[in-house]
Amino acid sequence: MQAATGLSPTVTETIEWFGVIGVAIVVLAVADRAAASLRAEVKRRREASRTPGSTPLHPLVVRSYDEIFKASNARCSCNNEPKVVFEGATTSHHRKLWLVIQICPRCERRFQTYYDVTDAVDPPPLASPPITPAPR
Ligand SMILES: [Zn+2]
Repeated sequence: MQAATGLSPTVTETIEWFGVIGVAIVVLAVADRAAASLRAEVKRRREASRTPGSTPLHPLVVRSYDEIFKASNARCSCNNEPKVVFEGATTSHHRKLWLVIQICPRCERRFQTYYDVTDAVDPPPLASPPITPAPR
């Protein structure tokens, strides 16, 4: 029997197979992109977890809250100054920690740093609500 398109059955089947193969190629390409994106995210998180202070298990040990203020003035890789959006006390493994979260206003990169303030000699700053720095 001949197809309604006027093409021979062999040509019609060939066209159908190209369609199936085309869809398979698109599906594989999308899956490959998703896997590459996932690998990049896993790598970024692994590297971030190795950075001192990035997790409550590996906090930066400080002897005063002034050291936190000085350390929080580091610049982003895009050369902008990240803004503090939150800071407050927390605990981990019987250690007193101070968490500072900053976001770069330009590239929106997020910085989360834990400081071990167990042996800090000065009292913590009054900063219960999230802090929004004054515009310059
Ligand atoms: Zn930035």
